[in-house]
Amino acid sequence: MTSIATLGSHCALQVLKGAKDEGFKTILISEKKRENLYRRFGFIDEIVLVDSFLEIADKKCESILEQNNSILIPHGTLIAQMSSEQIESLTTPIFGNKWILRWESDRSLKEKLMLEAELDVPKSVRDPKQIKKLVIAKRHGAAGGKGYFLAANEAEYNDKRDKLIKEGIITGDKDLYLQEYVTGVLAYLQYFYSPLNDKLEFFGADKRHESDIEGLARIPAQQQMEIDQVQSFNVIANSPLVLRESLLPQVYSMGESFVKAAQKLVSPGINGPFCIEGVYDADANFKTFEFSARIVAGTNIYMEGSPYSSLLYDVPMSMGRRIAREIKKADSANQLDKIST
Ligand code: ATP
Repeated sequence: MTSIATLGSHCALQVLKGAKDEGFKTILISEKKRENLYRRFGFIDEIVLVDSFLEIADKKCESILEQNNSILIPHGTLIAQMSSEQIESLTTPIFGNKWILRWESDRSLKEKLMLEAELDVPKSVRDPKQIKKLVIAKRHGAAGGKGYFLAANEAEYNDKRDKLIKEGIITGDKDLYLQEYVTGVLAYLQYFYSPLNDKLEFFGADKRHESDIEGLARIPAQQQMEIDQVQSFNVIANSPLVLRESLLPQVYSMGESFVKAAQKLVSPGINGPFCIEGVYDADANFKTFEFSARIVAGTNIYMEGSPYSSLLYDVPMSMGRRIAREIKKADSANQLDKIST
C-alpha cells in the first residue's frame, strides 16, 4: 500500500488531509517543537519526529518511508531547508519532478525556463551599476520574500545591501538577484498538470499579504520617508482572488506553454502542481516574475476547493487532495514512475 508523506510545515495539513480523504495512510516528518500542533489532527496517521528536516536524508528516516512505500510531497520548506543536491539524492520517491526544483531555486535557471515558456518576464539587472529604474532585490531559493528590498539607484541598493549584511541576512551581492519592479495587481496562478492524461487544470488564484511592505502602504508618505529601516516582503498570509473571466484564456495558455517548456528543458517536465507568479499591469498584461515548481502555500485557502476547482470536480478538491488522487490513479495503473522521480 502506498502512503503519502510530507514535512511538517507550509501546506502539510492540506496535503495530508487530502491524502486521507483519498484513503491513503499519512505520514508527517515533524520537528519536535511542532509535535503539539500536529498531534491535534486525526488525519495524520504517523509522526516521525526529527530535530531538523535535514534528517529526512538519514537512513533511519528514509527506511521508515521505504517500509511504508511513501511518496514524499515536496513543498516550499523542503526547498528552503535543503540544497538541490540534497533533494536530488533522496532515495524516497518525490511527487512530481525533483530535478525541476533546482530550476526553482536557481534564479538564472528559473529565468531561462520562464523565457523558454515565452512568459513576459521583467528584465533582470546583472550589475547594480545598471540600475536605471526601480528594482527589487531578491534572495535565491524560496526565501518567502524575507530580506527582499527595493532600490531606485546604485547608492540606495548599496546602502540597503550593507544593512542586510550587518543583520546577517545575506553575505553579499552574490546572494541577490535584481529584477525590474512591476506595479499592478499581484496574482499567484495555481495549476495542476497531469502527465497521465496530458491535461492542465487551472486550480485557483491567490494574493499574498507581505510584511512590512503592506504596513508601509498604510501610512502617509511623509512618515514613510522618515523610516530608516529596510522594508521586507515577508509572506504572512494568503487570500483568495477571482480573476475577470476574460483573463482565463491567457491563464491557460501561459500554463500550457510553461508545461511544454519544462518538458523540453527538464525531463520529465512539470508534473503535478505549480504556480506562475506575477503582476497584471494597467493593460491587464501579466508580467511573470517567478514560478514555483511544486505546491504553493497559497493553495491552503482552498482546502474545500476553489471557485475554479469546483468547476472541474464534484467533490471539494484541494490541491492536496488532487495530488493524492493522481497518486491513486497512477498506482492503480502501475504508473507511479510517471508521476514521481
Ligand atoms: P516564493 O515563496 O514564491 O518562492 P520568492 O522568495 O521566490 O517566493 P518572489 O515570489 O519572487 O520570491 O518575490 C516575493 C515578493 O516580492 C512577491 O510576492 C512580490 O510582492 C514581490 N515581487 C517580486 N518580484 C517582483 C517584481 N518584479 N515586481 C513587483 N513585485 C515583485
